[in-house]
Amino acid sequence: MLLLTGNRIDHWIGGARVAPAKGAYLESVDPSIGKPWIEVPAGDAEDVDAAVAAAKAAFEGPWREMAAMQRAALLRAVAVEIAGHAEELATIECRDNGKPIREAIPGDLPSVSEMMNYWGGQADKIHGSTVEIGPASHNFVRHEPLGVVGIIVPWNSPLAILAAKVGAALAAGNTVVLKPAEQASASILVIAECFDAVGFPPGVVNVVSGLGEVVGDALVRHPDVRKIAMTGSTETARIISERAAPTLKQLAFELGGKSPNIVFADADLDIAVPGASTSSVFTGGAGQTCVAGSRLLIHASIYDELVEKIEAHVADTVRLGNALDPATAMGPIAFDRQYEKVKSYIALGREEGAELSFGGRFGPENFEGRDDADTLAGGYFVSPTLFRGATNDMRVCREEIFGPVTCAIPFEDDDEALAIANDTNYGLACGVWTRDLKRAHRFVRDVQAGAVWVNTYRRIHWAAPFGGFKDSGYGRDSGLESLRGYQQTKTAWIDLA
Ligand code: NAD
Repeated sequence: MLLLTGNRIDHWIGGARVAPAKGAYLESVDPSIGKPWIEVPAGDAEDVDAAVAAAKAAFEGPWREMAAMQRAALLRAVAVEIAGHAEELATIECRDNGKPIREAIPGDLPSVSEMMNYWGGQADKIHGSTVEIGPASHNFVRHEPLGVVGIIVPWNSPLAILAAKVGAALAAGNTVVLKPAEQASASILVIAECFDAVGFPPGVVNVVSGLGEVVGDALVRHPDVRKIAMTGSTETARIISERAAPTLKQLAFELGGKSPNIVFADADLDIAVPGASTSSVFTGGAGQTCVAGSRLLIHASIYDELVEKIEAHVADTVRLGNALDPATAMGPIAFDRQYEKVKSYIALGREEGAELSFGGRFGPENFEGRDDADTLAGGYFVSPTLFRGATNDMRVCREEIFGPVTCAIPFEDDDEALAIANDTNYGLACGVWTRDLKRAHRFVRDVQAGAVWVNTYRRIHWAAPFGGFKDSGYGRDSGLESLRGYQQTKTAWIDLA
């Protein structure tokens, strides 16, 4: 049975579809063609109040009373349910945000299901401890859930980002209110029904869509929400931090990046070329990924050769097109404002004196002579774009563009590469391409980033912690470390004297 029928979908609150209190909806645009395709609720504080009340009631009632092994079974069951709807969920998400279906079906959706399975495996293994104080006391430590957790996600990979947080929050025994990004809410509104279908009590999982400044803000300020776990921009995280302060909420932020992808002269170029291009910036999601290796640091001795090889590789492998077309390797920018932003950064790079090595073609320019040119004419497409001769002080090398744009920066030796790599406010990820083991370990140790990949890029797994240093945030998604982020510790003293 299809989860989505029609072209309008409502909030999911207390186990039911609920229309927005004020009756307002937002149009979500399919960025491959630049036309609206579905309406989602433009919720407000009243809707958030209803969702938080449902989540609180579920937390204090059926979810709290449920045995851990039952919660675990539900998480494993929802993994199966999601797998059964993978193709539909992927299609909804790709239509909403422009990510190519050929990445989402074999990549994002299986990982969403696997994450639920992983957290199902953890939910009945929550252990406390005892502390040996002396014969007069029995002291033991419990790891308890926080209560209602607000989860706020962006538009680039809504389900995959959501699943890491929701899985951990539920495994720890919390209930959740989910706030998708206004530009791509549909897949998250829809997936709520998978939880319902396998028997999650009403109110354990709720979804309220709407603007960040309205719905997100109401969630952040709500006194009954004990934690906000957010993935998004550093700027929004600063605003959330201030507004969450009066209610002393716990916070976890997965934020942006300007990650260095460093190719040394001794790198195996057969793997570094695809690694430094397709898997970092020239991805299916058109570089709209937080870990994009958007500063390509190249040893001066191989600079020209590598740039030429990347250009040839991109020309051979990156076909732009409609996200739902299986032949499409790179989709559009997800929405109009972001499209304009990416375009403005390409203009800025030129003004700053970087040289456009390839790319910088927008919208219809990418489809001249193609049969599908007419249907794609209104889409938000930017071709893979590489700036040569960039220096790390340029704004295009310091600010997150979040598009298929990378800046190739030359370096002379390891010290200079390390200095450039760390000369950024961000600290999310880093790629190191070398055959020298000592050099690899030195960079793993000295680069200030939450993930360092050696001779690979963008590997992320539900069992391995993921998150940033510096302005890229704090708190971790995935792995057992993230479970602690959704728990609070209670110490009990029993008098034995
Ligand atoms: P954003 O910060 O504008 O929005 C993210 C979410 O926050 C959206 O749901 C939005 O509605 C909500 N929001 C906005 N204002 C709010 C407010 N005042 N109160 C509460 N919620 C509010 O980010 P974006 O532009 O949607 O996403 C792109 C950013 O996300 C980039 O910086 C990217 O690097 C980052 N990102 C990070 C990761 C990661 O795991 N580190 C993954 C993907 C994206």
